[in-house]
Amino acid sequence: MARMSHYQTALDAVETHLRALQASGVRFLNVQADTLFALQQPVPAQPEMAAADKVIARESAPPLDLNPNLNPSPPEPPPSGIAPVGKAPALSGRDEKAAAMAALRQRALACVKCPHLAKSRHTVVFGTGDIHARLMFVGEAPGADEDAQGEPFVGAAGKLLTRIIVAMGFARESVYIANILKCRPDTPGQTSGNRKPLPDEMNTCLPWLLEQIDLVRPAVMVALGATAVEGLLGKGEGISRLRGRFQTFRGIPLMPTFHPSYLLHNQAITEKRKVWEDMLQVLEKLGAPISDKQRAYFSKA
Ligand code: URA
Repeated sequence: MARMSHYQTALDAVETHLRALQASGVRFLNVQADTLFALQQPVPAQPEMAAADKVIARESAPPLDLNPNLNPSPPEPPPSGIAPVGKAPALSGRDEKAAAMAALRQRALACVKCPHLAKSRHTVVFGTGDIHARLMFVGEAPGADEDAQGEPFVGAAGKLLTRIIVAMGFARESVYIANILKCRPDTPGQTSGNRKPLPDEMNTCLPWLLEQIDLVRPAVMVALGATAVEGLLGKGEGISRLRGRFQTFRGIPLMPTFHPSYLLHNQAITEKRKVWEDMLQVLEKLGAPISDKQRAYFSKA
């Protein structure tokens, strides 16, 4: 069998390692922006592979597709060859966005602007999902589960949010999810429970979210609960009054709706239906297909 290049061998080893990490539940890696940039460069010229090796290389490297539903990303044209000397090959918009988000994430992970939260937190809960998503959800702040795992909406309310997303016809990984606050609000003297973020904390943390929104540029956003609405729109007039009517945030249609934790505490079908009607409006705004079955969810018999 013809010898594979050292480059290909190293690349395969990296991919195998990344897939193993992914399979074991790892969602994020710390990658320097310049490393990311280097990884995006064209494969260096190498001797022609033997036909058998070409088959092996193709078959052993299926694309990592985490976003099957919402954002089928058109395949990007392969790099056309070696860049002219002294000129870096142009990054695609998607690559630039990924590098910018990775760099933003690195800066956010090191944030100590709220010293009390930096001290009490276990992780900075930056955001999760597809950075090219057309739909973005914004919640309030991490709870204990999110603080422990470093991912938004992984506790009980998060599981309900995931069910809502799936009922909409999407995979959780195909939307983008973030919070107003990236650190869990501390609860000194308490061993459990959560508290609402303070206005100062929200104002201090908001620039991270604004940068995330400006990078993702979703077609539609959903604000989950009164605190998310307050943090984004500065409106404190009550989620019951605001929900169900599109607002605009940075030019993006924003649907305020109840926080999933509200639905956990109030199991009435009427409340579930309200959230569902808000999500139907979101689907319509996205131009996503809606089945008769979906339209009927939580409606009274
Ligand atoms: N509630 C939120 O608002 N955000 C989370 O990440 C988890 C629960």
